Amino acid sequence: MVFSDLDGSLLDHDTYDWTPAMPALDQLRERDIPLVLVSSKTLAELEQYRRQLRLQHPVVAENGAVMQVPDNYFADSADTGSPSTPRNELQAAYAEAKVANGFDCEAFYELGVHGIVRETGLAEQQATLANDRAASEPILWRDSDARAQQFEQLMRVQGLRCVRGGRFLHLLGDTGKEDAVRQLVSAYARGWPGECLTSVSLGDGPNDLGMLSGTDIAVIIPGKHGRPMQLAPGNRVIRPASAGPAGWNEAMLTLLKEHSEGRLATHGNGG
Ligand SMILES: [Mg+2]
Repeated sequence: MVFSDLDGSLLDHDTYDWTPAMPALDQLRERDIPLVLVSSKTLAELEQYRRQLRLQHPVVAENGAVMQVPDNYFADSADTGSPSTPRNELQAAYAEAKVANGFDCEAFYELGVHGIVRETGLAEQQATLANDRAASEPILWRDSDARAQQFEQLMRVQGLRCVRGGRFLHLLGDTGKEDAVRQLVSAYARGWPGECLTSVSLGDGPNDLGMLSGTDIAVIIPGKHGRPMQLAPGNRVIRPASAGPAGWNEAMLTLLKEHSEGRLATHGNGG
């Protein structure tokens, strides 16, 4: 099973184009290999990509704070976790810290749809879907890295988490992409007992590190954030030369070739 980040990974960082990954996407579909989208995007946005990409698999939205599994997808219902901290509580914690410390930043709710259009290059309709959030708040951080760490610490003591995506700092409850992926890996393992399952994840950002270290094979797509992407030794790491969907395609075709030749290392029951 394959878990993939969208922005900067399956989607081009600037144009949001995924067509360079079509050869690998077609092969995954032909072989019935699940592709789970795992993104900081909202469920409303992921629904669109799920349709465009003709996927009928679970999706993980808002950096792990929201998960949706199609009806009757797993024989037993996957534990979709307790609902994460609602957005209005996140906004209250953010606003209090911002006022008290004078942080130079703007959250999605402060930017509004027009501000989101300006900062992301999304069309207005897309920006509206991006702002349709249940349990996370993206923050455009203009202040220093040290001040970001101070903000993160203030949130952590309240049981909230900050993760860095390609463009924004995302504030969410005490959950992450890795928690959702772990639940899904074990649901697949329960659904296909005795099968040798191999889990693959693809991502480009620091908010993907937990997910990347939680699967058998990690594909680290070159990112634009300039931060080191190091994993603890243990899983196999592939670093394609190209960024975005071209790199996604390159790495996935390599793995699919190994898979068809029976050379793909497997670790038993979804391990
Ligand atoms: Mg990304």
